[in-house]
Amino acid sequence: MNADQASSFIDSRRSVAQYGSMYEFAVTPAVTNIRRRGVEICDVVPDSLGAEMDLESGDRIIKVNGRVVRDYLDFRFQTSGETELVLEVRKKSGEDWEVELDRAEGEDFGLSFEQIVPRQCANECIFCFCNGNPSDARPSLFIKDEDIRLSFLYGNYTTLTSITEDEMRRIVEQRLSPQYVSVHATDLDVRAYMLGVDKQRADISGKLRRLLDAEIEVHAQVVLCPEINDKEVLKKTIFDLAAEYPRITSVAIVPLGLTRYNTDPRLTRVTPEFCREVIDQVSAIQKELHAQVGTNFALLGDEIYLRAGRRIPGRSHYGDYPQIEDGVGMVRSFANEFTKSMQRLERDGWTSADKTSGTIFTGTLFAPVLKKMIDKFNARFGTRLIVEPLENSYFGGDVSVAGLLTGQDLLSARERVAGEFVCIPKQMLKSDDAIMLDGMNVNEVSRALGQPVHAVNLQDLVTLLTAHRTERSSAR
Ligand code: SF4
Repeated sequence: MNADQASSFIDSRRSVAQYGSMYEFAVTPAVTNIRRRGVEICDVVPDSLGAEMDLESGDRIIKVNGRVVRDYLDFRFQTSGETELVLEVRKKSGEDWEVELDRAEGEDFGLSFEQIVPRQCANECIFCFCNGNPSDARPSLFIKDEDIRLSFLYGNYTTLTSITEDEMRRIVEQRLSPQYVSVHATDLDVRAYMLGVDKQRADISGKLRRLLDAEIEVHAQVVLCPEINDKEVLKKTIFDLAAEYPRITSVAIVPLGLTRYNTDPRLTRVTPEFCREVIDQVSAIQKELHAQVGTNFALLGDEIYLRAGRRIPGRSHYGDYPQIEDGVGMVRSFANEFTKSMQRLERDGWTSADKTSGTIFTGTLFAPVLKKMIDKFNARFGTRLIVEPLENSYFGGDVSVAGLLTGQDLLSARERVAGEFVCIPKQMLKSDDAIMLDGMNVNEVSRALGQPVHAVNLQDLVTLLTAHRTERSSAR
């Protein structure tokens, strides 16, 4: 693959990454699909190249130009930059076809493919979220994915403990960069203990070096567990990783989250005081690293600041938000975008003369921050919106993020619903369906609450609020 091929491949990765939540993508196929040769076509755009070749949904592409295709990433890689192609296809009827075609450079095939069947991890991490599920949680919540393809596509983390030689070669050959790696600790005893594996497997120094030498960008993650990988272990981890900067671009440090079902005595809950100590420790390290390499490098998850009751750092703290999908800088990014949207509305002279009113539900951790912003919004534009924190009754414990709330949580808050509509965070829903973790769908909740329920991305909140007002105005 030359540089142009690699870059067009990477661009296609970015567009794929826009679909849905990474979690659902990662877990769903393993429960529903059986792995077979090749990659299955799910849809063919009418009048496309694929349609001209008489390809149909249910056909499987087995090889491209004699090279085996294992999934759609392989298909994209094998076809990228190629204009003359021979496809080996197993038709859904069972026939084997060999299809020859010429295509213009970059011409799209008009094909969509089955999702990737994720590879499972072989670890027994003491903090694994699967250990915190209620026993009757849906099966997909127990899937432990560890897949370098999903790491590249969606930013899922892998530990590299059981990566095969074939996968290592694939990352390098197909330029599956960046990779997101859960390091947790560079102290080998601590890492082995946390992952529940022996030291030999826990040692990924050789694998990391190989990736870095091949110029694969790596983002590291630490799940911070009090009394296990904090304090001196954390300091060593940050400095060991920073020694590889800029090949290791950043390390995200996120707190251990325990549901009420985690009763492992080896784990200690994260407290506000613990978060304050971590902020103080890491702020000093950030200063030192900034002076050395010009970036903070080690970035704390938003949850740590929120739990500590400390201010979320400013925009420049996060650089280009390298691990925002891991909840690192998400609040800052949203706050800045929200402020910009308000300024735009002010410039446009927007006011809510009809006093749009509604209820915005979110997790307990973020609710106070959002409330401040919405109060300002109300004061400036005359809306009557309220923010209501939603307790997580399903998982309990420390779980206070929006993405793990359920339909039942919403129903138990029905007394607090006010106004003409309800907004809920889009992360509460499956990526491809309007269903929540407990199986309730948005329409059911809407009927039970007696209000329209809108599931929105935070980024789209202002758009929804103003659109709602416009809808109402035009309905008059
Ligand atoms: S790597 Fe650890 S935390 Fe991740 S799924 Fe496997 S056991 Fe769970």
